[in-house]
Amino acid sequence: MIISMSATATEAETNHVIDRVRELGYQAHVTRGVERTIVAAVGAGHREELAALGAAPGVEQIVAIAHPFKLVSMQVKQKRTVVDVGGVPVGGEECVLMAGPCSVESREQLMTVAHAIRDAGASMLRGGAYKPRTSPYEFQGLGIEALKLLREASDATGLPVVTEVMSTEDVDVVSEYADMLQVGARNMQNFSLLRRLAKCERPILLKRSPSATVKDWLLAAEYILAGGNSEVVLCERGIRSYDPDMRNTFDLSALALARQLSHLPVVADPSHGTGRRDLVPIMARAAVAVGADGVIVEVHPCPEKALSDGPQSLTIPEFAALVQLLGQPLRKHLRQQPKAATA
Ligand code: PEP
Ligand code: MN
Repeated sequence: MIISMSATATEAETNHVIDRVRELGYQAHVTRGVERTIVAAVGAGHREELAALGAAPGVEQIVAIAHPFKLVSMQVKQKRTVVDVGGVPVGGEECVLMAGPCSVESREQLMTVAHAIRDAGASMLRGGAYKPRTSPYEFQGLGIEALKLLREASDATGLPVVTEVMSTEDVDVVSEYADMLQVGARNMQNFSLLRRLAKCERPILLKRSPSATVKDWLLAAEYILAGGNSEVVLCERGIRSYDPDMRNTFDLSALALARQLSHLPVVADPSHGTGRRDLVPIMARAAVAVGADGVIVEVHPCPEKALSDGPQSLTIPEFAALVQLLGQPLRKHLRQQPKAATA
């Protein structure tokens, strides 16, 4: 339930409501806005007594939370979340550009890309150390060696770094080297991993599974928030479809809907979304036009030699051209969000 305090509610009235929500067996999540405070009662408690709080002093109204996801819901917070990733705000006015190789392959490869994308205008570095490959015979990533290289590249360029963590055992080591931990699409519903990430001190980039509905995706994020980590950024990276000419269907309507239903920032990954470097720039632009809070793309100094995802990786000059394409005029679209349907 959402309990909206009136604009004139006193601190004591608000505290009474919060205490009562907890007494009734719910978690109380409090959002203090400029005008009013909202108390979200989440969990399974005494529902009838909770509804009776509608008559408590200082309460303006009490309404049910419309969706099964609660803490990630826009209804609960009513303002957008900005997630700080190593000093870079994700979800604010600026659309954040994250770039780097699919896999970290060597110091030379990573340093070349990291400096080039920084000089071209990126604000975050990406790179895989632990790779979720469809075949066990494909390159699986350099593991801890790659984590060390990512830290070195991040320190050298000043770009915070995001990298994937595939299993609960690796959460500590990845948190030691990375500024943000990525949950890959294949792990979006690995609930043990989500619960473990709820207890880590780093922000999380939660990719959408290729077969997840928007509701599944938001409920996966709910695991992380419910467990105590509210620093989550969602990432649309395409869903499984039928056209062999594209790796996935890049689902921009899901991105727009997730941003409407949730206060969490949503970024777009047109590299995995399309699987084709020729489509990456235009789809990145489309993502910004529908409100993406950031774009994450793969870049390689020599894509034809890449150990993973070469066909969708931009060359360094192509990345510099993308930065120009995503120039200032597009940012104004960020605030133009469609209103939620009422029926
Ligand atoms: C990646 O970012 O390289 C990756 C494997 O992403 P996804 O989980 O979206 O396939
Ligand atoms: Mn990749």
